[in-house]
Formats: sequence, C-alpha cells, structure tokens
Amino acid sequence: MKCHQCHSLENKVIESRDVADGEAIRRRRQCLVCGYRWTTYERLERPSLVVVKSKGTRQLFSRDKLLNGLQLACDKTSVTSVQLESFVAQIERELYDRGEPEVSSKDIGELIMAGLPRLSEVAYVRFASVYRKFRDISSFERELSKIRESKDTAAQPKKAKKQASKKK
Ligand SMILES: [Zn+2]
Repeated sequence: MKCHQCHSLENKVIESRDVADGEAIRRRRQCLVCGYRWTTYERLERPSLVVVKSKGTRQLFSRDKLLNGLQLACDKTSVTSVQLESFVAQIERELYDRGEPEVSSKDIGELIMAGLPRLSEVAYVRFASVYRKFRDISSFERELSKIRESKDTAAQPKKAKKQASKKK
C-alpha cells in the first residue's frame, strides 16, 4: 500500500487490533521513508445487499454511508469511533443475518432507533427528530449534513464546501 505523503511502498504495521466486535481488524501503518502514519481496516467481504427506499427506489447497502450518517448524529457527543464502529457492525450483522437480498430503509432506521439510545441520548434525539419526519435514511443524511454545514459555515466559512461534494 502506497504512502499518501511520499508514495513510497515501504511501510510497516505498528499496531493491529480487532474492532467492531471482532468483525474487522484495524491496522496503524507507518511509512518507512517519511514516517507518515495512517489506518487501514480489513473486513469480511459480504454479498451485496440492496436497500429499498420509501419511494421504492433501490440502492446498494453501504456501511460507510451508515457510519457517516451516525457520525453526524453523534457529532460532539461522548460516543467514540470504536463504539460507532461496533454499532454499525451490529446493524450490518442483523441485516445480513436475515438472509434476504433486500432490506428496507425503514428496517435500517428501526434498528438504529432501537440501538442508538444505548450509545447516546443526544444522538438518539437528533436522529429520531429527523427520522420521524422523513422515514427515509437518505433524506435523514441530507438533513443532518445541512445542519452540520450551516454550523461549519458559521464557525469556519472556508471549510463549508467539504460535505457538499458527496457522490450519489
Ligand atoms: Zn511516506
């Protein structure tokens, strides 16, 4: 794997541990040339799962998208990235364990609603207030991004574009 700083291929693993309830391995790597450090994750590759949205449109399930949405809900709370990773792993496992090729975005929303209070009341209230109104994870993500963007714009006007260039 190439160093993002100097593009050297020489690096070593300086730390390696199980995360997400043992469903993934997190590795800290260090470039042997410039000393740059980064993190990689190794996880099981699962068959693709399709999410059916409330309007009937379909989209591939993406754990990154789920994680991203939850990170927005947990912004500035005491929830750690390790807790978030393990929560996402739980949801993912429950979805795949159903053995169906498709799940509804409502099912995902309900799983989040059921588990989030254990992580953070604040995150739950944020999620629930948006979720109850929209009943659709993708609109939820948009809403939360808007909230965050307006906050970022107020605090650091130059960085406001960061979330806007998200692919569909
Ligand atoms: Zn390097």
